[in-house]
Amino acid sequence: MRTNRTFTMIKPDAVKNGYTGEILDKIIKAGYKVIALKYTKLTKQEAEGFYAVHSDKPFFEELTNFMSSGPIYAAILEKEDAIKSFRAFIGATNPVDAAEGSIRKLYATSLGENAIHGSDSDENALIEGSYFFSKLEEVE
Ligand code: UDP
Repeated sequence: MRTNRTFTMIKPDAVKNGYTGEILDKIIKAGYKVIALKYTKLTKQEAEGFYAVHSDKPFFEELTNFMSSGPIYAAILEKEDAIKSFRAFIGATNPVDAAEGSIRKLYATSLGENAIHGSDSDENALIEGSYFFSKLEEVE
């Protein structure tokens, strides 16, 4: 399995707040190669499918309402040790706990509306990437 790719979404809060350009710029300047990129809007059902692993959590309804509330950017990124480095780059789930300079520290609104997603394992990066992109849409 590939260990050098991750999947990300710039979430509806960050898109709405006009941070897409700054976030993409930081991602590219941090050395991630954009393999695939898409501007789209999830339906409630698509958001539920993406976050199915959290379906028993108390925040599931709020999360899927939020993720289907406005457009997002979805992308597959490539860099050595992508999963681990990108999780550090975006910062902790709750922006209050996120490191200075991290994407969530800079751009997140709250714990739920936290600007950006990053896959937590190689396996999930593959599953999540293929939720949005076909093989033909990945530019090597
Ligand atoms: N989330 C939330 N409340 C919580 C925990 C998570 O609304 O108490 C949201 C938040 O948007 C987070 C997403 O659910 O990014 C997925 O949660 P996870 O624990 O997988 O965090 P992540 O991997 O995104 O940091």
